[in-house]
Amino acid sequence: MAELKAKGKAVVIGAGIAGLVTARVLSDYFEAVVIVERDELPADPVMRSGVPQAYHPHRILPRGHIILERYFPGYIDDLLKMGADPSDEDSVELANSYGSFRIQPPKNTASCSRALLEWGIRQRVQQVENVRFVSNTEATELIASDNQKTITGIYIRERNEQKTVSAVTADLVVDTAGRSSKAAKWLESLGYSVPEPELLKVSLGYSTRYYKIPEHLNKEWHSILSDPHPEKGIYSSYLFRIENNVAGSLLFSAGDEPYPSTDIEAYQKELKTVAAAGVAELTSKLEPIQGPRGYRVQESVRQHYEQMEDWPEGLLVLGDAFCSFDPIYGQGMTVAAIEAETLGDCLKEQRSNPQPQFERRVLERMQQAVEPAWWISSVSDLRWKGVEHTGAEALKGVAFAHKYIDLYTKKATKLAIEKDFSMYGAMFMMNSLVLPPNEFFNAKILTMLLDDDGSYEEQQLRAQLAESDPQRFQARIEELIPSFNGAYDKVLRNLSAVLHGGTGFGS
Ligand SMILES: Cc1cc2nc3c(=O)[nH]c(=O)nc-3n(C[C@H](O)[C@H](O)[C@H](O)COP(=O)(O)OP(=O)(O)OC[C@H]3O[C@@H](n4cnc5c(N)ncnc54)[C@H](O)[C@@H]3O)c2cc1C
Repeated sequence: MAELKAKGKAVVIGAGIAGLVTARVLSDYFEAVVIVERDELPADPVMRSGVPQAYHPHRILPRGHIILERYFPGYIDDLLKMGADPSDEDSVELANSYGSFRIQPPKNTASCSRALLEWGIRQRVQQVENVRFVSNTEATELIASDNQKTITGIYIRERNEQKTVSAVTADLVVDTAGRSSKAAKWLESLGYSVPEPELLKVSLGYSTRYYKIPEHLNKEWHSILSDPHPEKGIYSSYLFRIENNVAGSLLFSAGDEPYPSTDIEAYQKELKTVAAAGVAELTSKLEPIQGPRGYRVQESVRQHYEQMEDWPEGLLVLGDAFCSFDPIYGQGMTVAAIEAETLGDCLKEQRSNPQPQFERRVLERMQQAVEPAWWISSVSDLRWKGVEHTGAEALKGVAFAHKYIDLYTKKATKLAIEKDFSMYGAMFMMNSLVLPPNEFFNAKILTMLLDDDGSYEEQQLRAQLAESDPQRFQARIEELIPSFNGAYDKVLRNLSAVLHGGTGFGS
């Protein structure tokens, strides 16, 4: 796709969050965009079979919110009109093994189910004139040019009795079919050699239960995020609110730990073992309506299509189909939005300065954009016994990051309990994919952390650092922590500088 054709057509496979944002991005550059979706798309915000994970809580991280607001301005108002809960009227209790404290969520945010969020975004995409939905129809195969070097469309099969098969031609096909994407298989059947993906063998379990919040409890209500303690086998938990006065509780474990229970009595007992006592206490006052229901994922998968010697023109892969994550960190939809935005940036450059190998460059840029989320969540998951990373290259800096984050969390929690959120805020912004990790892991912060308080955490960090000269701290950190080059653009750096300025660390 060296030059963007003025009358080009793009086909997107899948109408999940990745497909919807991608279609919106493509609508600025192609005359026609067709979204092919296997499911019949419901008229109301309800669950559908193609997105079974939608039963479980789905939150958008601040970086994802910025991107959604860019492409769908005012989408939060749409969600609020549909019954979503205004998050800024809530308060959130954060609990970990060092203590607990409450924060106020940012303004202009909403809590709702994944079904409502997707439905709200879909309504917006349906209003885009040059986007057309073909639902109840499955993409079954890629169509390639005679020499297999260009993808020219896809075969689709209707999911009705006739099962009619037809061909859809396209100048660009984007596979956003989620974890069930067949892109690798399709490429192999065209004769391409696909590299082994990088894997995080995480063996994670979710168990979620829903409740009605009785009216008299509305004042007492607050959301609770309870961190796990993997070394002690303590599960993560999340008490959250969705639309229409419904709350949910989630239990999460990973690695060798047993999956959280789906039996009501055992579930209630497990809720009592998490770091935040309030989770069990508050849920016992709610009116159960559904669940607990489980969800299990064996692996997070990061494809490395950009490493292929040949990559066909006219094809891209994005969203969970490109890289999937442990959902407990809430990254998947945000990363899908980052990838779609990256594609938009590349299309803009291609329009003004057409270059060969457009698709490969997009894949490389998306890979850079994915790196912080993959590293942050993998580092965190590797605390659970039994979790394993496999890939051509080992993950950098895992043991050092664990010790750094432990000491940081201890100090940040102490400050936050005293109502100084500056330290906690910086870590939150890194985990929200707004603040580049290199602005969190740096010599200035390290020096501040190592204040000779004699704590166990400090001794552990010093042992991992293996460097006593503060003048060489920065060089040592750069040896240990990945560079994340190309992951954050200039605009975001400015934004993070603003946020960072408020943390008191400076950069
Ligand atoms: C339990 C759980 C909880 C999660 N919580 C969060 C969270 O809090 N925050 C967050 O950001 N992310 C979360 N995620 C991840 C999130 O669900 C995904 O990252 C996100 O949905 C990515 O979207 P996607 O569009 O790539 O894939 P999906 O949302 O899975 O959508 C794929 C779409 O493709 C369609 N499709 C599949 N095959 C075909 C085909 N052959 N032809 C046509 N259509 C096809 C499917 O029907 C579906 O509509 C969670 C995931 C799980 C499992």
